[in-house]
Amino acid sequence: EKVTDKIKALPDGANYFSLEFFPPKTSMGFANLQTRLERMSQALRPLFVTVTWGAGGSTATKSLELAEICQRQLGLTTCLHLTCTNMSRSLIDEALEQAKVLGMRNILALRGDAPRSKEYREEGQLPEEDSNNDFTWAIDLVRYIRRQYGDYFCIGVAAYPEGHSDESHPEHQSLEHDLPYLVEKTKAGVDFIMTQLFFDVEAYDKFEKVLRDHESGAFKTIPIIPGLLPIQSYQILRRVTKLSHAKLPADMLARLDAVKGDDELVKQVGVKVLDEVVEHLKRNAGPGKRGFHFYTLNLEKVVSHILEDCHLIPQPLVDEDEEAIETTPAINI
Ligand code: FAD
Repeated sequence: EKVTDKIKALPDGANYFSLEFFPPKTSMGFANLQTRLERMSQALRPLFVTVTWGAGGSTATKSLELAEICQRQLGLTTCLHLTCTNMSRSLIDEALEQAKVLGMRNILALRGDAPRSKEYREEGQLPEEDSNNDFTWAIDLVRYIRRQYGDYFCIGVAAYPEGHSDESHPEHQSLEHDLPYLVEKTKAGVDFIMTQLFFDVEAYDKFEKVLRDHESGAFKTIPIIPGLLPIQSYQILRRVTKLSHAKLPADMLARLDAVKGDDELVKQVGVKVLDEVVEHLKRNAGPGKRGFHFYTLNLEKVVSHILEDCHLIPQPLVDEDEEAIETTPAINI
């Protein structure tokens, strides 16, 4: 099923969430994750799950294997991340074909890491020896998927509430710099936007408002799903915020700094911090439906606490016949 069809089917004002997983390296890791996924899908009932793609196709087989487990074995609506630079076109074709064969209807179309060549950095273009000149930016992949598959896939793209930086832009790029490209990318046939992780809710509010009010009209109704990182440990948090350029507001940092020697307390404070972020975003959802995407890092506990605290877990779908049996007065006894 398409993610956007599922969002449309939700009642007005509803909240929903998705969970992100990456393919483990070993078969033992796969077995453990599969058990965890079974538990999580039953207990938490995400609207959909996403499976990451190693830049350059480094995890292609494993990503597709994990996506198959999610989509086919667990019956979860699954969205496959797919990057397009530093990767042969045939690998992109194979991934899209395989996704279709597995019954997947959702792709998160990404650029992936920029090519690391010196020429690229200096001249802002791909070096000649790059094997894949078809894809430079994520928009090229969006257009390609639309050309090859029409409306079969629901396509999501990435956006960066606090700007973006990478090898191709040694200087950190602001949201203002990114915006024209995001407009173009969205207009190329995108169905939803998913954001980089952040903790600074004010920066996020501003980002969403800038998008919604944008004169192009490109973002008026499109689902924009904020990306959130459950805090698993102080070290991971510091590393990830540095890599993603997500600011940790001073008050949050102070609360986490105060307990940084105690892993259990870091998790507890981290859950509270995320609860506050979720509640803030719920309040500022406007008339639309508010979604949340959680970067789970394949871990279960912390995200489960946040979802429970914030009442994001939907009621189980009750089989009507079973319900009828359970609620029928015991007239036959
Ligand atoms: P693009 O949309 O191509 O944009 C990249 C940058 O280039 C932006 O700063 C943009 O403003 C600029 N730009 C765009 N077009 C042009 C142009 N024509 N001229 C000049 N500048 C331009 N990476 C992985 O490897 N695997 C994953 O599974 C993965 N999942 C992700 C999930 C989410 C939700 C997010 C937010 C990121 C994910 N990434 C993943 C990281 C992503 O691949 C990197 O951040 C990458 O550097 C940029 O990808 P993009 O799709 O945003 O690129």
